[in-house]
Amino acid sequence: MYRFPYNARMNPVASRIGIFGGTFDPIHYGHLALARALRDAFALPEVRLIPTGLPPHRDTPPVTPPQRFALVAQALAGEPGLVADDREVRRQGYCYTIDTLAELQAEHPRAVLVWLIGGDSFLNLKTWRRWPELLEAGHMVVAARPGFDLAGLPADLAEQFVIRAVLPSPETAEKGKISVLPTPLLPYSSTDIRARLARGEDVTALTPV
Ligand code: ATP
Repeated sequence: MYRFPYNARMNPVASRIGIFGGTFDPIHYGHLALARALRDAFALPEVRLIPTGLPPHRDTPPVTPPQRFALVAQALAGEPGLVADDREVRRQGYCYTIDTLAELQAEHPRAVLVWLIGGDSFLNLKTWRRWPELLEAGHMVVAARPGFDLAGLPADLAEQFVIRAVLPSPETAEKGKISVLPTPLLPYSSTDIRARLARGEDVTALTPV
């Protein structure tokens, strides 16, 4: 009798995987709220928070990548479906989102990668490596951010946004689409937290770490 050579445990396929990359220097309650909202809007069994190793867009932070990873893992403990992924902190050299998405897609060939990006980052997407390919690499989900108006998108990116926009839901998750995450504006920023820490202020209402 022919037996299908795979069983459910071996099957690496999840139909949708949530991805949330960032410096997380440090992780804050805005990040956590966004990761939960992504999970819930697309019914994702798993959202991976991926702290970057050497970020291409900014100076190397004083807290080391393994330390930032450890703090992210600690902040996610007990959060259903939210997991820390250390692939970028283990990688030698610069980390580019396009490479990370390609790696994840190769590991999960049939999954739709539902990946989150803040509105400030989306406005700058054209500075990202191979940005047109990023639009095709998964379902991009944009989180609005205080102070950043998507009306300021460059014309060609705005055009892509209009062509690709769909409401966020498990049914609309598809490569090449873009959605805006339905969250309230979240007034948290790692830069602000670092500045407060430098002034000796209490940041316990802003970050779990
Ligand atoms: P920094 O202030 O140091 O730039 P950050 O608060 O933006 O840090 P990152 O780790 O760089 O934190 O953010 C990871 C991703 O999350 C980015 O795409 C960023 O745009 C997004 N993001 C972070 N905070 C918010 C927020 N409050 N609202 C919406 N998006 C956010």
